[in-house]
Amino acid sequence: MSDFDLLVLGSGPGGQRAAIAAAKLGRRVGIVDRRDMMGGVCINTGTIPSKTLREAVLYLTGLNQRELYGQSYRVKDEITVADLGMRTQHVIGRETDVVRSQLARNHVTVLPGTGRFLQPDTIAVSGTGDREQKLTADRIVIATGTRPARPETVDFDDRTIMDSDGIIHMDRIPETMVVVGAGVIGIEYASMFAALGTKVTVIERRERMLDFCDLEIVEALKYHLRDLAVTFRFRESVASVERMAHGAITVLESGKRIPADTVMYSAGRHGMTGDLCLEAAGLAADHRGRIKVDEHYRTEVPHIYAVGDVIGFPSLAATSMEQGRLAAHHACDEPVSQIHETQPIGIYTIPEISFVGRTEDALTEAKIPFEVGVSRYRELARGQIIGDSYGMLKLLVSPEDRRLLGVHVFGTGATELVHIGQTVMGCGGTIDYLVNAVFNYPTLAESYKVAALDAMNKMRHIARLSG
Ligand SMILES: Cc1cc2nc3c(=O)[nH]c(=O)nc-3n(C[C@H](O)[C@H](O)[C@H](O)COP(=O)(O)OP(=O)(O)OC[C@H]3O[C@@H](n4cnc5c(N)ncnc54)[C@H](O)[C@@H]3O)c2cc1C
Repeated sequence: MSDFDLLVLGSGPGGQRAAIAAAKLGRRVGIVDRRDMMGGVCINTGTIPSKTLREAVLYLTGLNQRELYGQSYRVKDEITVADLGMRTQHVIGRETDVVRSQLARNHVTVLPGTGRFLQPDTIAVSGTGDREQKLTADRIVIATGTRPARPETVDFDDRTIMDSDGIIHMDRIPETMVVVGAGVIGIEYASMFAALGTKVTVIERRERMLDFCDLEIVEALKYHLRDLAVTFRFRESVASVERMAHGAITVLESGKRIPADTVMYSAGRHGMTGDLCLEAAGLAADHRGRIKVDEHYRTEVPHIYAVGDVIGFPSLAATSMEQGRLAAHHACDEPVSQIHETQPIGIYTIPEISFVGRTEDALTEAKIPFEVGVSRYRELARGQIIGDSYGMLKLLVSPEDRRLLGVHVFGTGATELVHIGQTVMGCGGTIDYLVNAVFNYPTLAESYKVAALDAMNKMRHIARLSG
């Protein structure tokens, strides 16, 4: 008999949920991860620290209250990294405790260290002193996540030139900063530092940023960030980064030289597969360290599964959790459904963005007609009360059957509000439901009704004109 029915490598959202789901089905489960990484990138270096930092920034700068109390309003004048770090460490500690306790409650054996394949069903766990443990398992789930990609030409020192892992260990808030890469992580950090008063320059090779989001909303975000003194350099590539005694100069291929106290690289992430000895299991990763899986998260070796960021897009914590649960159910021969196709995307910039379903661009390209219904927070009583005059919610509606094709939200509470639209879409609902529903007043949720009425009125207008 094998040591475990299911052995999981990596304790991030994907691994954790796989382990707990299998344990709930009565299987003998083990989970391997380094002692100081319990909870994964998500809890220790990624989602949780960055979102806690954002919350601390918003609170201490008083940024969201300035429309109400004036532009000079601040909770604390001199914000230090200690102010920001204290809250982050507290939340990381609490979240790690929750993970440990859930694993313990479900009798999952925690194996501190890192794992690598010796054979397709045998894993060596090292890192727990000198002794290497050899463990066998009937099913194995790889959930080892990713690490920031570091271009070889850049001399990272984690003080002046760093990646997103280094940000949470910064020793001071820089006055000037260059962010290389306008992906989600780059823009989230750019907006947090801009809110703290840092003069940020964002360098992006492409013409646009966040091109999977609604164009109008990305334009609104750019407007806001420019207002916070962010400079964008699109269609520019970094030729080199020169470290100086105090700061660094980022040299662009166009010849521009941009001085800054700190340079943060956010140039994608690489799958953590290098140390797994995948070849011993009959597997291989692609050039970005990612593992290929089928619709049940099975690799080419049927008893080995892979979930989370290590399999690539969309590389989100919520999706990783669901992938872990579904993989475990499949591995335990339980009936499984497919992951739901309407999945929300949340981007915690300042202000935040969230959407579910398709964008105007995608619908236009697919030649799918749609009507737009918009609600602006400044026209809602709640928007006035909280001092959010820029927020908006946009519904994309099928004029044929009035179903929701997409929901796009910008501003306060966007990442929460989107779930109302997601639920309506998931249940195949139409905007008739939103038009007829009564929402609490005054709320931001009311924006759904306002936007639905807007879309409905536009469709009525067309119907009237068409006779
Ligand atoms: C700065 C930042 C902000 C983010 N913000 C968000 C957000 O707001 N919302 C969101 O949904 N997602 C966000 N993400 C993405 C999210 O963190 C990931 O999608 C999620 O953590 C992936 O989960 P995972 O299961 O793949 O494992 P990960 O969380 O990546 O953890 C993998 C674990 O595997 C361990 N491991 C690696 N190799 C081995 C080995 N050989 N043996 C054993 N263990 C090993 C690692 O130590 C690590 O603990 C963010 C990411 C970053 C970097």
